[in-house]
Amino acid sequence: MHIIIKKRNTAILTFLKKILSVSSVQPKAAAVAAPVQSSNAKSYPRSEHCISRSQISGNALKVLQRLKAAGFEAYLVGGCVRDLLLGREPKDFDVATNASPEQVKQVFRNCRIIGRRFRLAHVFFGRDIVEVATFRGAETDDSERQQVDEDGRLLRDNVFGTLEEDVWRRDFTVNALYYSIRDFSVIDYTGGMEDHRNAVIRLIGDPLVRYREDPVRMLRAVRFAVKLGFSLHPGTEKPLFELADLLQSIPSARLYDEVLKLFLAGYGLQTFEMLRHYGLFGILFPLTDRCLATEAHDFPRLFLIRALENSDIRFSEGKTLTPYFLLAALLWEPLQMAAQKHIQHGDNETLAYQNAANDILNKQIRITAMPRHVTQAMRDVWFMQAKFAKTVGSRPFRLLEQPKFRAAFDFLALRAETGGADPELVAWWAKFQDADDTTRQAMTAPSKNGGDKSGRRKPRRYRGRSKSDAQS
Ligand code: ATP
Ligand code: MG
Repeated sequence: MHIIIKKRNTAILTFLKKILSVSSVQPKAAAVAAPVQSSNAKSYPRSEHCISRSQISGNALKVLQRLKAAGFEAYLVGGCVRDLLLGREPKDFDVATNASPEQVKQVFRNCRIIGRRFRLAHVFFGRDIVEVATFRGAETDDSERQQVDEDGRLLRDNVFGTLEEDVWRRDFTVNALYYSIRDFSVIDYTGGMEDHRNAVIRLIGDPLVRYREDPVRMLRAVRFAVKLGFSLHPGTEKPLFELADLLQSIPSARLYDEVLKLFLAGYGLQTFEMLRHYGLFGILFPLTDRCLATEAHDFPRLFLIRALENSDIRFSEGKTLTPYFLLAALLWEPLQMAAQKHIQHGDNETLAYQNAANDILNKQIRITAMPRHVTQAMRDVWFMQAKFAKTVGSRPFRLLEQPKFRAAFDFLALRAETGGADPELVAWWAKFQDADDTTRQAMTAPSKNGGDKSGRRKPRRYRGRSKSDAQS
């Protein structure tokens, strides 16, 4: 998998892990690892589940075992347990423990404590990181360690706890299963195993409270439902229709990160459809949502669908997925509309697109904080679209040298597939790229009948006889 999402290497991502937060204020004494004993907990012994140590990364096992040897409790928890139970290879392995981050640091030399409001330990093995989170405790009046805003959103949550308390701070029942390194059992307080068997995503606790505490859980609900092929429990689903607006309070850096996970993890199209269904997409991409809602023809939608489908296929083939390509596609239609406005106000086409790109990106960045290198690449892809029409003289040669040429060409091809560009132009560029120099010279020579494609008046939107048109 080559997604260009560097997980866990930024403080932003740390923020995402707030559930697993701890504080250094009062390290809990390292008790000898005790078996979990609670009337509420169900323990599934090794014989009753399919998780085998051979499926667990060697580094994660090392962390678990060394914590255990140092007298701490240590569990695998979260997505890795959920995915292992499905027989899937986990993206990463998260560890939960009763050791404080400082205590974890004492056990591992290759360890760094990260996060301020939500402190975690990262144990490094070369480029591999195992995230070790101390059990988080129950609610407290201690505002130094726990803070909630007026919407009920948790701003700070740095309270130690036990496994039994940690469970209830997690989001979904299927994410709250703990694999014990002590006896290889799976511990379940919330009915996660049953929900797992029934393929249900269910929030732990009162859904309204839990969504208010952290509105990103709405996006996570959709993401996991699609990724796992699970359905949303009715109580977990219903508030989605009403609470979408709460996402507006989430920092843009965190939302950007969520957007990457939503759209670049192999299930972009289904996720897009589901987010639209619940009115969540409109919060993330209001400009795009407005275009989709008001468009008389359905080809902007078709274009987006093709772009998402294309990304999903690339993902399944193990090819690189770059955020800028899909983001450029998501915002392409709003860009067109904004550019038309600038043209109506007298800008030439080039200036209109530049101004439109500024308008669109300035607005979008406030919601999902794309880094500058991403927005620059989006601009490159966008601005190159008009340049593809120039097929005479030296310009095609110069375009070919552009670093983002290939992405821009793929973008053009997708537009052509859905009626937004001339398929002949795509064929011309496909041939030009592969041609030898003599052929290239011949292709770019001015023809008698003024064959430069730039000579033709470019319609705002090409509506040729593309495959998708024929179908619609
Ligand atoms: P994946 O890594 O496959 O996307 P995951 O479930 O591991 O899925 P992470 O973001 O890595 O997701 O989080 C690890 C675990 O931390 C989750 O399984 C869940 O138990 C808990 N968690 C993460 N984010 C939240 C949240 N916003 N609210 C409550 N619990 C959360
Ligand atoms: Mg994870």
